[in-house]
Amino acid sequence: MKAFIVEEKNILNWLSKLLQSNIKVYVPKNVEDYSSYEQIEQIEDLVLHQKRPEFSFKNILFPQTESVLEYTIEKNWVKTNPDLNYNSTSEEKTIIFGAPPCDCASIIALNHVFLSEPIDIFYKSKFDNVYIIGLACTNPEPECFCTSVGSSMTSTKGSDIFLTPLSSKSNSGKEYLVEVITTKGMELLKDYELQVQKSNKKITKNAIEEIKRKHDSKYESQILPKKDFTQNNQTLSENFYSKDWEEIGITCFGCGVCAYVCPTCTCYDLVDEYESGCFRRCKNWDSCGFANFTLHASGHNPRPTQIERYRQRILHKFTYFTEQVGMTMCVGCGRCTKFCPVHKDIYEVRSRWI
Ligand code: SF4
Ligand code: SF4
Repeated sequence: MKAFIVEEKNILNWLSKLLQSNIKVYVPKNVEDYSSYEQIEQIEDLVLHQKRPEFSFKNILFPQTESVLEYTIEKNWVKTNPDLNYNSTSEEKTIIFGAPPCDCASIIALNHVFLSEPIDIFYKSKFDNVYIIGLACTNPEPECFCTSVGSSMTSTKGSDIFLTPLSSKSNSGKEYLVEVITTKGMELLKDYELQVQKSNKKITKNAIEEIKRKHDSKYESQILPKKDFTQNNQTLSENFYSKDWEEIGITCFGCGVCAYVCPTCTCYDLVDEYESGCFRRCKNWDSCGFANFTLHASGHNPRPTQIERYRQRILHKFTYFTEQVGMTMCVGCGRCTKFCPVHKDIYEVRSRWI
């Protein structure tokens, strides 16, 4: 890992060079009445330190709907479209710039699902060409709880490069601690030189920790109190039959919003569609909150009501995934709480059994 101090204007110059070299750059952006990661064409379109966007960058790697096969049927023969042959070279280089630590961390969960055998080639072709530049959180929302899932406002998990603003200003302008975390991050710096502060070349491990400690302590009080949701997963399993689930699940009406806004939800369905003489097999986002998610062809449904479906969502995120992977399948972004139409509060639900 490398680290150095860089002036904001030099970071913007560097990003400008990347934009001019035909690399696609996505940044958190307000668009009309919502916010998401949007592609920008010029550096003037970047607004630093935006609030965590309403939609995560999940759709860049795992689109809401994606063709995985196209075919026609001619004289009883199935003919596939050879142009739909995905590999790492079929995708353009893409930078996701200024993502908060919660969204950056989600990449670890996505990778576990899509890059474990059997590898999802559609995801891999995009991931191989994506560079994630995280930015320390300066705008937490009241529903955020990243510190309860083992993260923080300056966590570098999932980032290739991570930026933390320094609280003090130099005479020439705002400065950032720049941490280069992965070889992908090194590649970006090697190919597109970033002008660093000569006086701060040898920044020590202790100095880095101090910068981050200061930043975290400045914003910690703005999010939900820190609890440990990474441990005691058994307590949740032991309460599988608790009466509480009835009270919790009964108000959920299975709209799926929580899964669609969640940066780590990865369930999808495969559906064949027909349009203008061509069939498309589409990979579409799905949700364990939908009634037909587990509906069998026989008509039997092992999760017959929203009570079982909502319990599954919580146990998958905090017990099953944690047991298999060693991390929660939740990065504490608080989106599901914020956008649930009945205000189902995941932090409150998880807090019942710790
Ligand atoms: S957003 Fe709320 S109501 Fe909709 S499925 Fe999720 S928990 Fe249920
Ligand atoms: S479960 Fe909710 S809080 Fe956790 S990562 Fe998903 S949307 Fe964010």
